[in-house]
Amino acid sequence: MSKKPTNEEHCSFCGRPASQAGMLLSGLNGYICQDCATQAGLIFKENGRPQNQKFEIQSADIPKPIEIKNFLDQYVIGQDMAKRVLSVAVYNHYKRLKYNSEHSDKNDVEIEKSNIVMVGETGTGKTLLARTIARLLKVPFCIADATTLTEAGYVGDDVENVLVRLLQAANYDVAACERGIVFIDEIDKIARKSENTSITRDVSGEGVQQALLKLLEGALVSVPPEGGRKHPEQKLITVNTRNILFICGGAFDGIERAIASRLNSNVIGFKGDETRAELDRDNMLQYVQPMDLKKFGLIPELVGRFPVLTALQPLDRDALRRILTEPRNALVKQYQELFRMDDVTLDIPAETLDLVVDRAVKYHLGARGLRSIMEGIMTDLMFDLPSLAKGSTFTLSPDIATSKMKI
Ligand code: ADP
Repeated sequence: MSKKPTNEEHCSFCGRPASQAGMLLSGLNGYICQDCATQAGLIFKENGRPQNQKFEIQSADIPKPIEIKNFLDQYVIGQDMAKRVLSVAVYNHYKRLKYNSEHSDKNDVEIEKSNIVMVGETGTGKTLLARTIARLLKVPFCIADATTLTEAGYVGDDVENVLVRLLQAANYDVAACERGIVFIDEIDKIARKSENTSITRDVSGEGVQQALLKLLEGALVSVPPEGGRKHPEQKLITVNTRNILFICGGAFDGIERAIASRLNSNVIGFKGDETRAELDRDNMLQYVQPMDLKKFGLIPELVGRFPVLTALQPLDRDALRRILTEPRNALVKQYQELFRMDDVTLDIPAETLDLVVDRAVKYHLGARGLRSIMEGIMTDLMFDLPSLAKGSTFTLSPDIATSKMKI
């Protein structure tokens, strides 16, 4: 919708100049004449508001925590603790929306939201959990990356841009956007670098946390509808963030040390060695507490805005093996589907899958590595795939897999 390069304003829909079309209403990037507005009105009247309807929540639409968890189970292996926490949080989010819309009286109890932080090594399924939840939701959902955010006025995205994504996901329906869910990835990357406050401005750390705090606290935020920097002539959309649920994820590399030292100092002189021995040393993340996030460099106010804290488990060999075949869109199923489209059955014996997992474990590649290893093996094979006899079966033996592996 761009304006024509003349001095006279044109209707952006029919193209007629104001001299022919009469009065023009101005929008963000263009104009509309009375005829086109009337026409648009009729179309809306006939077709209802299908885009927005999907965000209207009926009681029957509210999935129960067990239903959310069962849905997540189809796509995400393990991570039971995080799944349960997320399921309850999303369920409560719906209930809160419903309750607050029915109880607007000031004297009623107001149910507050419970923003969530998920702590877990990279590649353990944080984003996958968030994306999978998004499939199920009847509220707008978006994913933002904390590493791209900077304090207003510096190179990078203003924090408000997080809401631009949500507005887009809500088809610019502000009311729907105000009930949405935002997943902010890599929240650990905006941690303060040291506990000392520096005299130089901390562009990517504390400043961003302060800006983010405003969103989390529930504020009226002016958002440039198309993203980017705000500038004086731009029209802004006001979004109230009070009911928007924020879920954050981060690897918090090294936080185990803070957890371990806190736990060690706690157990000394308490139940002593007995308690210490019970700790699962290989997975300290499961003991994460809000104070550990503070120690890591998140400001206390921000930590306080995340009442729910959950940890993801590191993926062991068994989990990696299951990831290859079990999820609904498991890698192996995807390749089998690609082969099936060429009328060839792809058979991958268990030994070959074990081999792939061995490589991922050996090189510490985690779940993400499974894909690159498989891709390395399959690319060559798929090059020859269309020439294979229709109706045949191709068995990917461990020998073939080894010969094709790039690592
Ligand atoms: P992160 O924790 O860094 O956000 P991701 O969710 O992006 O990790 O995981 C990367 C990829 O690894 C996913 O797209 C998925 O294919 C796979 N993966 C990771 N964890 C799991 C899991 N628990 N179950 C199934 N697949 C997983």
